[in-house]
Amino acid sequence: MKDSTLWNGVHRLAVRRGRCRGSSRLPTGVRPSAGERRAWRAAQVLVWGVGVVLLALLLFVPNVGIHAFWNGLIPVAPALLALAPGVWRNVCPMGSTALVARHAGLSRRRRISEASQARLSLVGVVLLLAIVPLRHVVLDTDGPATALAIAILALAAVVSCGHFEWKSAWCSGACPVHPVEKLYGTKPLVTVANAHCGPCERCVVTCPDSSVAMTPLSATPRPSARLAGRLMVGGFAGFVWGWFHVPDYAGGEGWSHLSTAYGLPLAGMAASLLLFTLLDYLGGPSRRRLVASAFAAAAIACYYWYRLPALVGFGPFPGDGALVDLRDSLPAWLPAASRAVTTTFFAWWFLGRSSVVRSWSIRPLERIADLGGHGVSLICGAGDAPRSGSTAPARRTS
Ligand code: SF4
Repeated sequence: MKDSTLWNGVHRLAVRRGRCRGSSRLPTGVRPSAGERRAWRAAQVLVWGVGVVLLALLLFVPNVGIHAFWNGLIPVAPALLALAPGVWRNVCPMGSTALVARHAGLSRRRRISEASQARLSLVGVVLLLAIVPLRHVVLDTDGPATALAIAILALAAVVSCGHFEWKSAWCSGACPVHPVEKLYGTKPLVTVANAHCGPCERCVVTCPDSSVAMTPLSATPRPSARLAGRLMVGGFAGFVWGWFHVPDYAGGEGWSHLSTAYGLPLAGMAASLLLFTLLDYLGGPSRRRLVASAFAAAAIACYYWYRLPALVGFGPFPGDGALVDLRDSLPAWLPAASRAVTTTFFAWWFLGRSSVVRSWSIRPLERIADLGGHGVSLICGAGDAPRSGSTAPARRTS
């Protein structure tokens, strides 16, 4: 019997026994078919190859690399995280690189305690807030510096995934992109197969890939996780606004403008957090999700408010972040039209689709070895509690 057939047969058996929470509303743990897995592997290799080319361009043809990375790839990322976070999580080149060891059976597969996961989520937010202002200081104008930053993060990712089970330490832990994934990915357009994990080891408390309506506030009630969630939900919109009011500094000049580069985004974040706290207090628990959605919408709408016009030269600092300067050939009303479209779209995306309840990807089934043999249920519904709070290494199955 083919592996995937066996896997899906196991799933059907579990559903019949009422041990799997599969339903028509929630995605269930059916292993992707062999063809689907091959397609995802091909996509991972393709995107990984694009990542390697970008890295080479940043190092050896910095002018092209900077445009391709900062003005080509990165402006697409927030929209992709909002529309299809599961697709991004499946093909992210840094994640694919880091998880090679786990796929090859070389990871030590340690299980992280809930407290450490909470701390790692705060580390991810701190890294994000530290790295993004560095773009104005040096990264936006220096290809090798950007390549070095990516290489350092990739090394951290490889070491994390080499020690800890699946995505627990990096992709769902300290990765600085992960807080943004959780902020923007609350109402995805699609739920896809999980092309990395399998079988699911329940390595993360509230697995972001498999939980429906994931937000930064969905984390554990640990103080560090709650702080990380509030900083992102309440503060990121103001942080983005402040960031767009800092120019790019070139030639090392940025190091003498650190107070501006960090001060404006952080001041915007503080103001946004204050407003969020006030509205959250006034709205009460019943409106918490609505307020959080409004702030997520504000953050991504603010990003595209400035970023799309800047790509064609209409940014707050002409020339900064421009793919091509078309100010002389495009109509002056274009930035206003672009802002109206993107702001309306993201307001609708986050606030007008209240019935959308999806996870980023389908949780893979747990290990077949667990089926009925060790008193552990075959659980495959989305958003379930972790199987165990154990800090022992996960058992090996391959
Ligand atoms: S799907 Fe399972 S193995 Fe993968 S990150 Fe989530 S909990 Fe861990």
